[in-house]
Formats: sequence, C-alpha cells, structure tokens
Amino acid sequence: MIQVNDLNKWFGDFHVLNSINLDVQKGERIVICGPSGSGKSTLIRCLNHLEAHQRGQIIIDGVELNEDVKNIEAIRREVGMVFQQFNLFPHLSVLENCLLAPIWVRKTPRREAIEMAMHYLERVRIPEQADKYPGQLSGGQQQRVAIARALCMQPKIMLFDEPTSALDPEMIKEVLDVMVELASSGMTMLCVTHEMGFAKTVADRVIFMDDGQIVEAAPPRDFFTRPEQPRTREFLEQIL
Ligand code: ADP
Ligand code: MG
Repeated sequence: MIQVNDLNKWFGDFHVLNSINLDVQKGERIVICGPSGSGKSTLIRCLNHLEAHQRGQIIIDGVELNEDVKNIEAIRREVGMVFQQFNLFPHLSVLENCLLAPIWVRKTPRREAIEMAMHYLERVRIPEQADKYPGQLSGGQQQRVAIARALCMQPKIMLFDEPTSALDPEMIKEVLDVMVELASSGMTMLCVTHEMGFAKTVADRVIFMDDGQIVEAAPPRDFFTRPEQPRTREFLEQIL
C-alpha cells in the first residue's frame, strides 16, 4: 500500500528526513514514536504531500507521489489524516464538516453524503452531536469528529499525528477506543503516538525515529522487550 524508498527532505540546510525506507502492507498498522523534533510529523506529512520531499520515492497504492498534480490529488483522496489540533472548521456544524470533502471533492450527492456522514458519526459514537458546532464539543468529541470526517472520504490509508496529545487525560481513551475499532476493521494505519498501550495492542510494527532516521522497527513484542538499538532503549526508559 505504501512504499517509501530512500526518502530525503531538507528544510534549508537542515536534513530533516535522512534516507527513510518503509514498506507498509494493506491492512498493516504502524506506530511511529521518537523524540520531539525527530521528523515524525514531517514523514507522515510527506505521505500525502503536505510537505514535498527532495530525494527518493513515495508510491501509494501504485501511484507515485511527484509534482504531478493529478497524482497528488489521487493520493489525497485515498489518504485520510487526523492531526493533533483537530483542525475542524469552526463555523460549520459537525455534520457540515463531514460533508464538505465528499460533496466538493468526491462529488457525492448530498443525500448520500449525509447518510455516510451519519454512519461514521455513529461509528465514532457521537451521532447526537451532528448539528452542534466544534466549539460546543469537548476535545475528545472534536477529535472523534475529525476521525469521522476523514473516514467520510473512504480512504484506504489513515494517518494520525499525535491524535491524543492535545487532549485532557480523561478523553484520551475515548479517542483510542475509536482508533482500536478502526484498526480491527482492517484499515491501513500509520499512527504517530506515544500511547504505548495502544502500540502494544494494535500495532503490527513499531518504528522508532531519531534524528530524521528510522533507528529501529519491530513487532511490539520485540520492540518493547528487547530493543536492539541503544537509542531505542534510552527512549523507552524515558517514556515507560
Ligand atoms: P516531530 O514530529 O518528530 O516532533 P517534526 O517532523 O515536526 O518532528 O520536525 C522535525 C524537525 O524539523 C524539527 O527540528 C523542526 O523544528 C523542523 N521543522 C519542521 N517543520 C519545519 C519547517 N516548516 N521549516 C523548518 N523546519 C521545520
Ligand atoms: Mg510532530
């Protein structure tokens, strides 16, 4: 589903992604962790071209991500993204937030789009909030709306960038529960998160990044019990 070959990116002189190689199979669930500033957000932002890379190759579901606008649009339709800051449109209701992309990008008829939006709002367990505005919801509810909104585009891949980091502790679980459910439905997922409980239950592979590089990648059981790299061990000692 995702092939990343020798991906390199610079911000000016700063080498933010240093020869990243990553293959993700359909239905695979990857958790990415690592210290702040290691390039995690930049990596997943490159996967839907919110950031451009300078060297290497990204192929998503057979389409290469290059400067060809047609390819970028094709890939963005297949890749949903959920951010730390929920990025909902504050002047639109929950339902309208969910309708926007299906109607304007996918050209889904409004009635069908409403049906689908309600379906996903039910899946994230807040159908009763459909007519409210984001500002009237808790952080956990807003993040679940953001997940429903991404799902309304029926993506093949979902990218999460620290989706629970901005939440009060009591709201983290309701968002993680939705993500666990999504994972069990077979969605291909890449999640940047430091929720190691989530990584243990859901991830097929955990990737540790530091300094723009993938330092270690392993199934959770190996990753947490016998990390090979000293840098990984150090990181785990700090967060566990
Ligand atoms: P992480 O998500 O792992 O915390 P990021 O990918 O956000 O790391 O950032 C990696 C590094 O790149 C950081 O040092 C950050 O300051 C830098 N960086 C991120 N975005 C930009 C940008 N738009 N311009 C310049 N530097 C950036
Ligand atoms: Mg980040």
